Amino acid sequence: MTTPAEIRAIHDLPIPELLFRAAAAHRAHWDPEEIQFCTLDSIKTGACPEDCAYCPQSARYDTGLKVEPMKELDAVLEGARAARDQGSTRYCMGASWREVRDDAGFEAVLAMVRGVADLGMEVCVTLGMLDATQARRLKEAGCKVYNHNIDSSKDFYETIVSTRKFDQRLRTIDAVRQAGLEVCCGGIVGMGETIDHRVHFLHELTQLDPPPESIPINHLVPVAGTPLADLPPVPPLEFIRMIATARILFPASRIRLSAGRTAMSDEMQALAFLAGANSLFTGDKLLTTPNPGENHDRRLLAALGMRVEGARV
Ligand code: SF4
Repeated sequence: MTTPAEIRAIHDLPIPELLFRAAAAHRAHWDPEEIQFCTLDSIKTGACPEDCAYCPQSARYDTGLKVEPMKELDAVLEGARAARDQGSTRYCMGASWREVRDDAGFEAVLAMVRGVADLGMEVCVTLGMLDATQARRLKEAGCKVYNHNIDSSKDFYETIVSTRKFDQRLRTIDAVRQAGLEVCCGGIVGMGETIDHRVHFLHELTQLDPPPESIPINHLVPVAGTPLADLPPVPPLEFIRMIATARILFPASRIRLSAGRTAMSDEMQALAFLAGANSLFTGDKLLTTPNPGENHDRRLLAALGMRVEGARV
């Protein structure tokens, strides 16, 4: 078991040694020239009762976000087909719910899961807290992965979210595992946390057994109207250290570059790939915040001599 002190020692390695170790771990499990493309679709947007300090979808913050009800099935399937045609192999659907309820909304999500799975894509959903029976129903409908981020270390988490507890996150992840779903679980860098909070966040992930199959590492997108709107960006090399440390700790997991890529240069993203990131979200938007878009991502991969993993195009 890796201790927080051992994780901190890895995190603080000189950059050449850190990147060398991360690249070696990456190559032992993955083709370092391939990047998985995933698409994230916001199937119900805004008016969330939770108070996550980074999130423009919380009903508590005045961010000018347009609230949108549950999408129609046809619109979701149209989006999934387009994403597949652009090279995405995973389609993630997110609803701004506190928790799953056994109601018509959940039945609608189950129909979306069936429809996207029938297109031959990996299906992931993120719907807030759920129990093992609901997780089993998602699995039976064809869902492969459930996303539920722990965001940060336990003590820092409780300074950015007051409407639920860190341990509730862990209970949902446990229910997801009981149902035989894969776990996608990561966090956000740049919310005002210290390096030690980041280390404890990674340590929490090492306590999950088995480890998450996907680990999204988000860079905070400060949104006007949220409590974190005025935070300065994390220095690029601090972000790269998080990617590399995650890759060394979780050599067989996907490490996903998620929110915040529009503020990253191509060179920084290339460094992130060298540090072991092997998945990203494509599309012009990531739920409600901007994202580089497929064309930019394809050009970047081409310039780097890299490929989209498993793409049909
Ligand atoms: S992160 Fe999720 S749970 Fe938190 S406010 Fe945003 S939509 Fe709601």
